[in-house]
Amino acid sequence: MSALATISSCATTACAYNDGACKAGAITVGGSEGSASCGTFVTLDVRGGTNSGSAQVGACQRLECAHNTDLMCTAEAITVSADTALCEMYSAR
Ligand code: SF4
Repeated sequence: MSALATISSCATTACAYNDGACKAGAITVGGSEGSASCGTFVTLDVRGGTNSGSAQVGACQRLECAHNTDLMCTAEAITVSADTALCEMYSAR
């Protein structure tokens, strides 16, 4: 595996890391089987993160996803959506 998956868009605007786009350096995707979601999602009265470039998927706990190898995401990019920050690229094998 070479590069980390990038987050090409995130529509979860309630997240403190969402400031027009995901501004976290890297996220961890977790959730449960059948429903992969961003574990970095948090609602706070601030907006934070970094402007150093595209946020990436630093780790993914959804081992059953077709894009997951060794608990890492092998997709080129993912999109995140909905109030619960779902990973739209999730595909159970
Ligand atoms: S596409 Fe699959 S492996 Fe990649 S972050 Fe989403 S759930 Fe994890």
